[in-house]
Amino acid sequence: MAISTHDSAQILATPIRGMKDLYGVEIEKYQLIVNVAFQVAKTYGYRLIETPIVENTSVFSRTLGGESDVVSKEMYSFVDKGGANITLRPEGTAGVMRAIASNKLFVNNNSPLKLMYCGPMFRYDRPQKGRYRQFHQMGFEHIGEKGPYADVITIALAMEILKNIGLNDVIVHINSLGGSFSRERYTKALVDYLCKYENKLSAVSKLRLKKNPLRILDSKEFTDIEVCHNAPNVQDFLTNEDRQYFVKVLELLQLWSIKYVIDPKLVRGLDYYTHTTFEFKLSNENMYRDALGGGGRYDGLLKLFCSNDVSGVGFALGIERLMMLLGEQMLPALNKSAAVIPVTAEEYESAFRITGLFLNEKIPTELIITGSNIKKRVELAIKRNCSHLVVIGNDEANKKEVSITVVNSATRRNIKYGWLEAIGFLKSEFVI
Ligand code: AMP
Repeated sequence: MAISTHDSAQILATPIRGMKDLYGVEIEKYQLIVNVAFQVAKTYGYRLIETPIVENTSVFSRTLGGESDVVSKEMYSFVDKGGANITLRPEGTAGVMRAIASNKLFVNNNSPLKLMYCGPMFRYDRPQKGRYRQFHQMGFEHIGEKGPYADVITIALAMEILKNIGLNDVIVHINSLGGSFSRERYTKALVDYLCKYENKLSAVSKLRLKKNPLRILDSKEFTDIEVCHNAPNVQDFLTNEDRQYFVKVLELLQLWSIKYVIDPKLVRGLDYYTHTTFEFKLSNENMYRDALGGGGRYDGLLKLFCSNDVSGVGFALGIERLMMLLGEQMLPALNKSAAVIPVTAEEYESAFRITGLFLNEKIPTELIITGSNIKKRVELAIKRNCSHLVVIGNDEANKKEVSITVVNSATRRNIKYGWLEAIGFLKSEFVI
């Protein structure tokens, strides 16, 4: 059956499932969130980096772990025209480590390196509220410093960013997986325990038992949750040194009055995490229960790309989730702007000239000539949120004057000004 022009236009206009356009209030929220976050992070010593959206697939498969959900199920991977295996980035940290190695950014005398970035990430996940196939993250990486102080300053940065975008009631969920020795010891104990209940585990968890048992701890399946309820606690398997490290992290959080809960089941899905792992959630989970962001320490990750065996800690915040929670009242009031409106076509040229004069003086100005009559043009200016209507009729054009009405003033009177006077008045109104 032939596809009609109407159907084919509809198909063309449909975005890819799980991906969406950002415009209007949404894009304003996006920009506000990123601006606020980067402003805060600058005060913590972070500088911008931007890496490509695609990387060689191995950048992710060798670092995140072949058994992680992200690598095994969710990557957008392609063979390009030259036969290279490439992947749309599912997260930011691995690409930043690759960039540090490629550009030799890490030299000991500039240690530590603090880098921030934002942009789209891609995961072939099941789309649902707050979960998309293309989404945006802001990431913050603190490389070259090991120890609880760097961990807590990193967590504090995330909390400060969230506070500055109006989310005051956030709590850190925190855990420690210890170093590799503790982690291995714990994984073994966990597998021993879970094997006893294997027949009760979900099909996915049965597979994970062999490949990525830690991941079973954060399964959302009811049967898995029940089995994991009495699973061994990672805290009991930390070496003395690893335990002291974690205790210090908690002490420092208290010192800066950062609210936390210890969550021994917080393993996060990726292979590269060691020691501290954390997520940020609203204290009131009835309002929104998924994590706003998360991260942890990843000692040993940079070593996979170069000879620098340095540690790092970082986190990413999901911008769509923050946009969902950001009230419109947080957006700055719409900027003021002048609408220059000719009464008839006779005054188009004068209106065009005065528009040029205003713009030269950096007065935000729109020339409104769409609409068949003055009434329609005024309506359009108001619809476009212009704050000042600058009307030019025949009389005004002859005398080089304009009539200005301030849209939201109580009196809404129009007052005549000479052109230069009008510029002075608008500059004082717009604080230019
Ligand atoms: P992750 O890299 O999985 O730890 O994710 C960090 C944050 O990114 C999460 O807490 C979410 O806020 C956000 N995020 C992760 N996956 C998605 C997704 N598919 N859609 C929207 N936001 C996401």
